[in-house]
Amino acid sequence: MEYVIQAPPVPSLAVAGTKARFPVRRIYCVGRNYAEHAREMGHDPTREAPFFFLKPADAIVTDGADFPYPPMSKDVHHEMELVVAIGQGGSNIPVEKALGHVYGYAVGLDMTRRDLQAEAKKMGRPWDTGKAFDASAPCSAIVPAAKIGHPGKGAIWLKVNGETRQSSDLSQLVWNIPEMIAYLSTLFTLAPGDLIFSGTPAGVAAVKRGDVLEGGVDGVGTIKLKVV
Ligand code: MN
Repeated sequence: MEYVIQAPPVPSLAVAGTKARFPVRRIYCVGRNYAEHAREMGHDPTREAPFFFLKPADAIVTDGADFPYPPMSKDVHHEMELVVAIGQGGSNIPVEKALGHVYGYAVGLDMTRRDLQAEAKKMGRPWDTGKAFDASAPCSAIVPAAKIGHPGKGAIWLKVNGETRQSSDLSQLVWNIPEMIAYLSTLFTLAPGDLIFSGTPAGVAAVKRGDVLEGGVDGVGTIKLKVV
């Protein structure tokens, strides 16, 4: 293929146990998927239908790299999340078949310019400037489901400078992984390379330059990065 300008590189993640990488196509994110986080954001955590937003694939920051504090914000928050990596695409995927579409799992941070998101909410505007900025999606290496299975429970945690900020369990997800995949696939045709950030537990808070963020999901993996 010949292009008139240089084609952009394919964003990708390392995969545990192989030198081959996982190419990232789209990044879907689920909102308000832990009841305690919905409450801390001022919402009623009743089981309303899940809602989604997206980040660009090139917003990925790999484990160990620095997170550059983004411009135009004074309130950048961490949101620690389990990430689902889709290996087989589809639409209208039934709940009972959803896990068969999963290649593996990772842990990631849905970094958020909370002040811009709050302004967008107030004005009835899209969330993109709050959620989809450059480097807004730090993500660990992927571990294949063939190795670890499909985690339905397990601690999810985040420490900032060694101090615990977020601590919950995957069993507290409002919409579990198969339900989330099934619902998302009614709205979009999922494809290999898609990532789904599955929502964050309570404890989101601001970061500042110099902070070291270290988080993980027991049985899946960890991520560590510095805010610069
Ligand atoms: Mn989130």
